[in-house]
Amino acid sequence: MAASNAGPEAAATAAGHRFNFDVIVVGAGIMGSCTAHAAASRGARVLLLERFDLLHHLGSSHGESRTIRDAYPKAQYPPMVRLARRLWAEAEAESGYSVLTPAPQLSLGPRSNASLLAAVRSAGAEEADLTRRWGGAFRVPDGWVAAVSERGGGVLNATKAVAMFQALAVRKGVVVRDKTEVLGVRKALEEGGVVVTTSTGAEFRGAKCVVTVGAWASKMVRSIAGLELPIQPLHTMVLYWRIKPGHERELAAESGFPTFSSYGDPHVYSTPSLELPGLIKINYDGGPPCDPDARDWADGGGGVAERVARWIEEFLPDHVDTAGGPVSRLSCMYSMTPDKDFVIDFLGGEFGKDVVVGAGFSGHGFKMAPAVGRILAEMAMYGKESTATEAGVELGHFRINRFEGNPLGNAAN
Ligand SMILES: Cc1cc2nc3c(=O)[nH]c(=O)nc-3n(C[C@H](O)[C@H](O)[C@H](O)COP(=O)(O)OP(=O)(O)OC[C@H]3O[C@@H](n4cnc5c(N)ncnc54)[C@H](O)[C@@H]3O)c2cc1C
Repeated sequence: MAASNAGPEAAATAAGHRFNFDVIVVGAGIMGSCTAHAAASRGARVLLLERFDLLHHLGSSHGESRTIRDAYPKAQYPPMVRLARRLWAEAEAESGYSVLTPAPQLSLGPRSNASLLAAVRSAGAEEADLTRRWGGAFRVPDGWVAAVSERGGGVLNATKAVAMFQALAVRKGVVVRDKTEVLGVRKALEEGGVVVTTSTGAEFRGAKCVVTVGAWASKMVRSIAGLELPIQPLHTMVLYWRIKPGHERELAAESGFPTFSSYGDPHVYSTPSLELPGLIKINYDGGPPCDPDARDWADGGGGVAERVARWIEEFLPDHVDTAGGPVSRLSCMYSMTPDKDFVIDFLGGEFGKDVVVGAGFSGHGFKMAPAVGRILAEMAMYGKESTATEAGVELGHFRINRFEGNPLGNAAN
């Protein structure tokens, strides 16, 4: 879908530019696509490089639904969600695409769960009368909280959202190359900036580079800078379950059924029935560790379907069918940091502020991607730390370790 310009390097040289590009973005998932769009919107000449086909299913940004909510246990995220929500709306208006379906957000869990209570407070959520609101769908044990937030939550159509930002980026002049794996990023010592080398044999010169390679971030940062990022890829499953006959409408987004998070063990989350009529997505928040280059596609995620089935039988027994397991499964990856906070930082060392890293989105970054893209673009273009700190991002939160002689190093945070 995204077109590419013929000979942008030659055009840059002819125009007397010192670099082929002002910003080279590596990785065209949702974070890279938003970053490329944000940088081009600020006047930068941008190259977006993707290892696989555009909109592939091998990373973390594919599929048809992601929750957007501002019920968050940590205070730094709701402002970023609110900024992102505004930017989602602007992108929808600019592109003509519709990617966000509004829905209330229901937070469930034991009254003793501190994260749940903090999330409920952050969203201004109110205790819900579940029977009045959603009939007899939910069965919640005594001692549990059930709180609803009506504020700006919903469901994002994930692959379509990536396509939207790529289309907008191309419209603003971003050059896109897919099937182009970045093999290296090095400092251009004499002329300044960076040189990005690829599997196609091409070399691109850029003033700045932004690395948004999802679950591959640790490997790439290790290979280009000898630094160890504490990011662990997880193999996660998207599970769709059949709604029991007669209840399809009740659990549909158009009837006001909520996105929900059930805190505690297992941590389960869901989006209302929308993309596959008659089915509802109910997932486990996590999965076993994996190597993004050696994935076991037959891996069912370490028994998560069984755990989710048991949860459904306890909490939504009359409405969702668990017999025979989920009717559709899709593999995905989380990129987990030790505390689930994002890695947004300058690479430092010999690269100084020339390379910016956005990674470790820990299974909850999609909703904030337009805000993250803006932060990464402004960090790269202006070298500004304030953009990130104003958004509540603590640079250096994961003090990146230089390893000496031990390529596995010790993850530091
Ligand atoms: C099952 C599941 C459910 C989720 N639910 C939610 C949710 O409800 N709400 C929410 O906010 N978030 C959610 N998330 C998290 C969210 O989807 C991720 O945080 C987000 O998609 C991460 O995007 P990314 O761009 O960092 O990674 P990716 O989408 O993986 O993009 C990285 C890109 O870099 C490319 N790449 C890698 N190496 C190279 C290279 N050497 N050269 C060139 N390109 C390279 C990859 O091919 C890939 O396209 C969920 C994630 C999963 C897996």
